[in-house]
Amino acid sequence: VQTDKRSYSIAVIAGDGIGKEVMPEGVRALEAASAAFGFQLDLKWHEFSSCDYYLKHGQMMPDDWKQQIGPVDAIFFGAVGWPETVPDHISLWQSILQFRREYDQYVNLRPVRLMPGVPCPLAGREPGDIDFWVVRENTEGEYSSVGGHMFPGTDREIVIQETVMTRLGVDRVLRYAFDLASKRERKHVTSATKSNGIAITMPFWDSRVEAIAAEYAGVSHDKYHIDILAAQFVMNPQRFDVVVASNLFGDILSDLGPACTGTIGVAPSANINPEGAFPSLFEPVHGSAPDIAGQGIANPVGQIWSAAMMLEHLGETAAAASVLAAIEETLVSANGRTRDLKGNASTEECGKAVASLI
Ligand code: ATP
Ligand code: MG
Repeated sequence: VQTDKRSYSIAVIAGDGIGKEVMPEGVRALEAASAAFGFQLDLKWHEFSSCDYYLKHGQMMPDDWKQQIGPVDAIFFGAVGWPETVPDHISLWQSILQFRREYDQYVNLRPVRLMPGVPCPLAGREPGDIDFWVVRENTEGEYSSVGGHMFPGTDREIVIQETVMTRLGVDRVLRYAFDLASKRERKHVTSATKSNGIAITMPFWDSRVEAIAAEYAGVSHDKYHIDILAAQFVMNPQRFDVVVASNLFGDILSDLGPACTGTIGVAPSANINPEGAFPSLFEPVHGSAPDIAGQGIANPVGQIWSAAMMLEHLGETAAAASVLAAIEETLVSANGRTRDLKGNASTEECGKAVASLI
């Protein structure tokens, strides 16, 4: 992505449930940042990739969704899923997972950062103690469809599902992690595997960690088994800087990490195609939350923080920092916090508080 362009076209997909409520607040923050930092935004909203669209058209997205999205700089995504009307496996497979695959978004990136005003479930931690990134391989690994199911329903039944790792796939996500660490103060990468139990693929991953680490003289690294690493997330989260893992282990760690730093309503995530050959996608960690949808009480911070990640990705570093600072300030003000954080602000009041600070 060019940093001198300063004009960005963005596909906006609100999706379902609280996605429709938090997205306007994410956009409000983007527009405030655009006004304050002098870049142009061309936002195009899409109805598809929602269960409402599915009910009208029998599929989550039109066949020509790629053309409809067009050559955008990024995709800003809310949340998808409404299990009452469309089973999750359909709504997810036909939407977010298609974006990941078709746009080769091979990095899933989530910050694990304790924010002020968010009660930490780990005792005795202060904001500043926990601040690291989880980098998850997002396209291969354990989530493959290679396998088989033989003799179903008999007592000879066998099921097999293979893990697929390619050198290209492993190397590129490791490089992303080392690149990210090289730009940070501590410059440290932690890799998660389970080489004592999964004795073919995981040692391969470990060997690629050593090979890629050799390209980054200024970045230190260590390797953990996933079970110990999960325990360390809870017991010693301050020791991490950038954590990189395979698709399955990364999936688990990228939920555990944000869970260690408080409410699900504030955590953002990104699905990134680092080369910029395809657009990257930015979305809150939370889902469509049918239990609270339509009440105007959802926390919009996860969506707004995702906007900050998107601005960072687009090269608008100062704007991204300002959005993050505005979030931090809002989270400590009683009338900015939403109900999940023991405040009484509505979704819109919280969003407006952040936007005015930007
Ligand atoms: P996914 O759709 O990602 O699989 P899920 O459907 O299991 O996730 P969510 O939709 O994220 O779960 O909701 C989990 C719980 O967290 C629900 O009780 C929901 O109300 C709450 N929650 C999720 N997002 C928010 C938010 N932004 N603000 C307040 N509460 C939230
Ligand atoms: Mg859900």
